[in-house]
Amino acid sequence: MLIGDIDVLPLTDGTFRAAPEYFGDHVRAEGHEDLFAGDGMAFLPIGCFLVRTGDRTVLVDAGIGPRMRDDGRRRLLIGGQLPLGLRAAGIGPPDVTDVICTHLHADHCGWLYDNAAAPVFPGARIWFGAADWDHFVADPGVWMWDHIREGLRAEAGRGDRLRPVTGDTTVAPGVTLVMTPGHTPGHLSVVVASRGRRALLLGDAIVCPVQLDEPTWQSIGDVDPELARRTRERLFRELEDGATVGAGAHFPELRFGRVLVGRGRRWFT
Ligand SMILES: [Zn+2]
Repeated sequence: MLIGDIDVLPLTDGTFRAAPEYFGDHVRAEGHEDLFAGDGMAFLPIGCFLVRTGDRTVLVDAGIGPRMRDDGRRRLLIGGQLPLGLRAAGIGPPDVTDVICTHLHADHCGWLYDNAAAPVFPGARIWFGAADWDHFVADPGVWMWDHIREGLRAEAGRGDRLRPVTGDTTVAPGVTLVMTPGHTPGHLSVVVASRGRRALLLGDAIVCPVQLDEPTWQSIGDVDPELARRTRERLFRELEDGATVGAGAHFPELRFGRVLVGRGRRWFT
């Protein structure tokens, strides 16, 4: 996928299996058989995007790592594939110059540190929303992988790898972070822009394009569901401008799409 001069490569770290209830207790598979084609379950990717611009190699989201999170029927996540995808693209861990975590949920920061809390991408700046640090890293009452919290805390106030973000921030040529809170307090989306073309990497601000047709569908991970809903509406409006395409970290096949406005809104890939 080329956005002007910038190469955007979707990669998956593994599989995210979601039951209809993941999107809300009122959600049923009926009418959405395409999405819930796996015996009534949606099989979605644990997505990441490799963005190559100038001499920078930017990884957007860092998967869940080589492990599994089983929340029963509603949600199951199995990771571990990201290094293979990077290797296939000719990228080794030292080549990554920047890692952007759209948010600090377990399936977006899992490869930041190994099981011994040592950095996996030692030469990379790590960008994330400052409000997510307060919510996840600083508060021991909020669940996150122990080795990820330990790795982040060990680097706090030491060196300049950690880059907490509080507002629109340019990370690399043509790569800008914008605040899209709700799913988590410090959730970021990534704008990739070059030569009049524009792509939005949405993280989990929109978990699945089905939320366009079904605005009451949430994510059980939404920290502030009402703010998350307003942010989704704003992003869907941005995606109907004719110039912008978007993809989220769990969009089916990590396919980019846009919103067509006509009789009702329609997601178009
Ligand atoms: Zn996620």
